Amino acid sequence: MIADRAYNNVRNDTFALPVWKLGYTTIYDLHPNRRGMHPGPEGTHTFWIDGVLYADSLPEGLYDLDPIAIDVSKDDRERVERRHQARQAYAYIPHDARHPDESRSYRGPAAQPGRLRCPNNPKSMRAPQSVPTTSCTRGEECGCGHTITLYDSDYPDMRMPFQHGTLACEMSYHRRVGIESVFADLKQNRLHVHRGYFRGFGIGRYTVLVGFTFAALTCSSCTTGSASVCVSIRGAGSSVSRNRCAQSVGVVSQRDRAKSPR
Ligand SMILES: [Zn+2]
Repeated sequence: MIADRAYNNVRNDTFALPVWKLGYTTIYDLHPNRRGMHPGPEGTHTFWIDGVLYADSLPEGLYDLDPIAIDVSKDDRERVERRHQARQAYAYIPHDARHPDESRSYRGPAAQPGRLRCPNNPKSMRAPQSVPTTSCTRGEECGCGHTITLYDSDYPDMRMPFQHGTLACEMSYHRRVGIESVFADLKQNRLHVHRGYFRGFGIGRYTVLVGFTFAALTCSSCTTGSASVCVSIRGAGSSVSRNRCAQSVGVVSQRDRAKSPR
């Protein structure tokens, strides 16, 4: 589920937690005021940056990275993305699916299969030299090799499947443009779904009617000169909506023609 800043600025029990309970994954646009570092779970030697959990071996130079911007050169975008990918190696990533008890395991960067070489995790040191090596001191606790259980209450208003500001985040978030286009088609460009379009009550009836409406929209989008696919569903659309729909495509039903003044 893609949400702009208005949604993750509300209380978690108003938006984030209910949609997670329904099984959705949330993609956010983070306001600069919400970005920053926070301590991770106690005793794990981790910290949060912009909703992602990192091992404390993350170099300080990678703490504060600008998100990728649209209005910069391609070279600058690639440079910023390389720095984000360097930071990604230190991130905790999901280890399994979310459990019914609202928990989910996350694997540290040196936990097998490792993405880093850490002196405190001998198996990780068997990785080739091309894999980054942390500056951890052997024998001193670090946050590289843990598997941590996080719960829905751990920053649900910021947590995403990938780092904020990366190309992956940008590509996912910008799907929102496509969705807005569908909304425009529904409300104005092809159909006229507004208040009163559906007449009736009950989620069951609404669900069926919305299904028919989207089917009509899909047919309309796929048909060249889509006029013929303005579907009137008995009981679904108001007469006003049906008339507007019919007028927009130059089709007037027999019943409406009979009603109209001559
Ligand atoms: Zn370490």
